[in-house]
Amino acid sequence: MELSILGCGSAVPSLRHLPSSQVVSVGQKLFMIDCGEGAQLQFMRMGLKMNRLNHIFISHLHGDHFLGLPGLLSTMALHEKGHAVTVHTFAEGAQLLQSMLKFIIGDTPYDIQYNIIDPNRHQLLYEDKQITIHSFPLYHRVPCVGFRFEEKPKGRHINAEMVKFYQVPTFMLERLRNGEDFVTPEGEVVPNHRLTTDASPSSSYAYCTDTMFDRRVVTSVRGVDTIFHDCTYGDELTHLARERGHATSRQAAEIALRAGASRLILGHFSKRYRSEAELAAQAAEVFHGEIITANELQRIQL
Ligand SMILES: [Zn+2]
Repeated sequence: MELSILGCGSAVPSLRHLPSSQVVSVGQKLFMIDCGEGAQLQFMRMGLKMNRLNHIFISHLHGDHFLGLPGLLSTMALHEKGHAVTVHTFAEGAQLLQSMLKFIIGDTPYDIQYNIIDPNRHQLLYEDKQITIHSFPLYHRVPCVGFRFEEKPKGRHINAEMVKFYQVPTFMLERLRNGEDFVTPEGEVVPNHRLTTDASPSSSYAYCTDTMFDRRVVTSVRGVDTIFHDCTYGDELTHLARERGHATSRQAAEIALRAGASRLILGHFSKRYRSEAELAAQAAEVFHGEIITANELQRIQL
């Protein structure tokens, strides 16, 4: 999996950061999380392909997470005939989009589906052979959810030389990846470990913004490798963070630490900061894993 940051600023526009949006790539498939203004231009800047984008997940209906979506979906109407896109959002978000698109585009020339998220529970939103995507409750001023991406266990790596040596037929390869032994036509059993090597580890990612510090988030993201967390403010504005339903960098670090993550990505920065170095330093006092301050056009291997 790879993460592309399209925007990582907070609600008040700034020239340093764009509003929230990012894309998780899994092989050829693209999954967009939130779609603030400017997201479609960033999407193009990063060389991402619209015909590979079939799922869009909206955390909540504040403008800085949502207002890029009518624009993106209108553009798709120009280019993506026969395309299919599912927007995962609350019932109100689906209603809002439907009436907006009816007015702006009329009948969309592509298939648009809505998968309704219940903000109060954990919900499986998407599953295929490679990954699952769940939503879970966050704690903001309005209903809000985070998203948890998990790769399924991967197949073992085939040792091409050994497979050739034992003349393993092609149809057996998938079974070898799943751990089966090979039996030669003469009845000799070749143990799986002679034909394969260990599978690559599966990775996981959780997106947690917008949210105030809340221990229930720890339960929802426990065991995830990389956590992206709301880091709107620094220590000096801890009171404001709670009041506005956001978190400080120290609180983000606390969540990552308790959840056992190996990496924390800080984002959703208030425009008042000219640099995020101080925010990262405060987080580093709590969390000793890798800390990344998000930035536009950044790609992160997950
Ligand atoms: Zn918000």
